Amino acid sequence: MKIDVHHTDGLEACVVECWSCKGPASPRALFCSVCGAVQPPRPLDHFQRLGMMPGFDVDLSELERHYFGFQRRLHPDRFAGKSGKEKLHSQQQAMALNEAYETLKDPLKRAVYLLKLKGCKLDDADGATISDPKLLMEQMEAREALMEADSAEEVQAILARTESDIAFAVDDLSQAFQAACLMGAEKLVLRLKYLIRLSDEARGRKARLMKGA
Ligand SMILES: [Zn+2]
Repeated sequence: MKIDVHHTDGLEACVVECWSCKGPASPRALFCSVCGAVQPPRPLDHFQRLGMMPGFDVDLSELERHYFGFQRRLHPDRFAGKSGKEKLHSQQQAMALNEAYETLKDPLKRAVYLLKLKGCKLDDADGATISDPKLLMEQMEAREALMEADSAEEVQAILARTESDIAFAVDDLSQAFQAACLMGAEKLVLRLKYLIRLSDEARGRKARLMKGA
């Protein structure tokens, strides 16, 4: 399968050595072009690994096409008669591709990853203190409204509002990254984290209310 690589990130000029035939191989290549041996995963970032343009705006159908194209070539059936080393490398490649795909397909994970690539130090802790008073207030009010909602309909209304807020926050993140405003993107990441947590809680509360009814 042909992968279109839209960007030049210096990797084109970089050559690594095939472990099997010692011939030259591209760091992106899953297989050696000389002997055909599967290669171990090289230290690529998730965008390079999946042949995607680095950035927040990811074409999800392109991402899927690339990911499943690579995974098909690494299917365990294809390595049934191969050496232990080739089996191992194919599994390592599959794992590296999984990790890249899981990160890039999710807007929050993608934003956090992109900020880290750009050198931002983010607080990963879930209970990270919110220093933005506006966001803190919004969060407290939303929690209160959710606790006070005592019918599935009321919770559903909160859930619908939260999901639309999530869509807006993802749009805002896209604009922040396009404007290279990393501080804005960091703030939006915090907001998106809290909105996703809130929607999870609302979904849980709705399920409990419907069961109790
Ligand atoms: Zn080789």
